[in-house]
Amino acid sequence: MRFILSTLSIFVILCNVFAQTPADHVKSVQEDPRVKAAFDHIDKDRDGILREWIAITEINAPSKQEQERAKYIESLLRKSKLDIRYDSAGNLIATRKGTGGGPVTVFDAHMDTVFQPGLKIKATVRDGRVYAPGIGDDTRNIEALLATIRALDAAKIKTKGDLVFLFTTDEEAGMTGAKQYTKDNKGKVDYYIALDGGYEGFTYAGIGINWYRHHFIGPGGHTRSRTPPYSATLPLARAIARIYELKVPSNPSSNLNIGMLSGSEVVNAKASDAWFTVDLRSTSNDVIADLEQKIAAILDEEAKRAGMTVKTDVISASPAAVLPGNRESNLVKIAEAVHRAMGFDPPIGNAGSNNSSAALLQGITSISTGAGPCSDSHALTENCEIDPLYRGIKKILLLGVSLAGVDQ
Ligand SMILES: [Zn+2]
Repeated sequence: MRFILSTLSIFVILCNVFAQTPADHVKSVQEDPRVKAAFDHIDKDRDGILREWIAITEINAPSKQEQERAKYIESLLRKSKLDIRYDSAGNLIATRKGTGGGPVTVFDAHMDTVFQPGLKIKATVRDGRVYAPGIGDDTRNIEALLATIRALDAAKIKTKGDLVFLFTTDEEAGMTGAKQYTKDNKGKVDYYIALDGGYEGFTYAGIGINWYRHHFIGPGGHTRSRTPPYSATLPLARAIARIYELKVPSNPSSNLNIGMLSGSEVVNAKASDAWFTVDLRSTSNDVIADLEQKIAAILDEEAKRAGMTVKTDVISASPAAVLPGNRESNLVKIAEAVHRAMGFDPPIGNAGSNNSSAALLQGITSISTGAGPCSDSHALTENCEIDPLYRGIKKILLLGVSLAGVDQ
């Protein structure tokens, strides 16, 4: 009898799952009294959330120096029933075990900041905003995860699938933390949600970003030396004008910018080394490769025309991360429904550049979003609006529970 009942109940659950649209599913989760209780807990916990958010932010954590901040986060996690461990990259991993039969959902927030070691950070609250370097990127999302765990516990929510809260190292300096985790856990993770930036929407692809410094090298000389050869600024100017004539597609989303240039150090000398930078971005690696080739051809032609040579330094390169079928994945559909249910519409944005790319490049279904609106990321004037964070935390909680499934 017992066997028949459980088989029957599984059948009923499966029927429900398949009959429901993602919007219906999310709505039913949102209306679950336990989820409502969790939302209430977030509202009651407002002052505690703000205090804790500031306390974490005031522990500066430059990339590869996250240990002190990690230890503090770990001490907060120890208050909940979680499996806690570190991996070889220094990532702090806290698993809230599910009751079984659900997908493994990972939420990632990175611990590192871009600020110099030893920087004293003191947050100030003014006009509904909180100001401190690193308050937004990415501490708001660390706090969102801690507040989510507390609210789940307070409302006694059990999920079917495991919820993994992953506090990563070194996002800002090369994503080595997320690269290590996704490499180690490939095949064990169903959904990977990188919380970094973002609030009203989410992205489901990683943009490729390549930075170059191109040099024209010529003989130089005094202003009054025989001309030609001219200053190396001449092929530079011609090349820049031609590069800006190149067609940069908007679909797939792509961008090109020449932001820096330099020539001689003095007015009365021809530049022997004139350089400029190119910032090339696209969600398609083919587009990047194509533009890279066209730019190289222009540089060669203009160098020859001026009797000079070209040297290219790649400052940094990270490939576009696009997973075929990700747009139609359950994760993207549920994320879309969750954003709409929380009043964010339209929610699907352009490609991002964060730890989500590391997951996508390992073939793991992934999106990126965030828990609150902030400004001046990577600047000493960085600040966030306080009030929207509470809604952002509810969004993260609803997303986690909708994906992992509430255990009846
Ligand atoms: Zn970040």
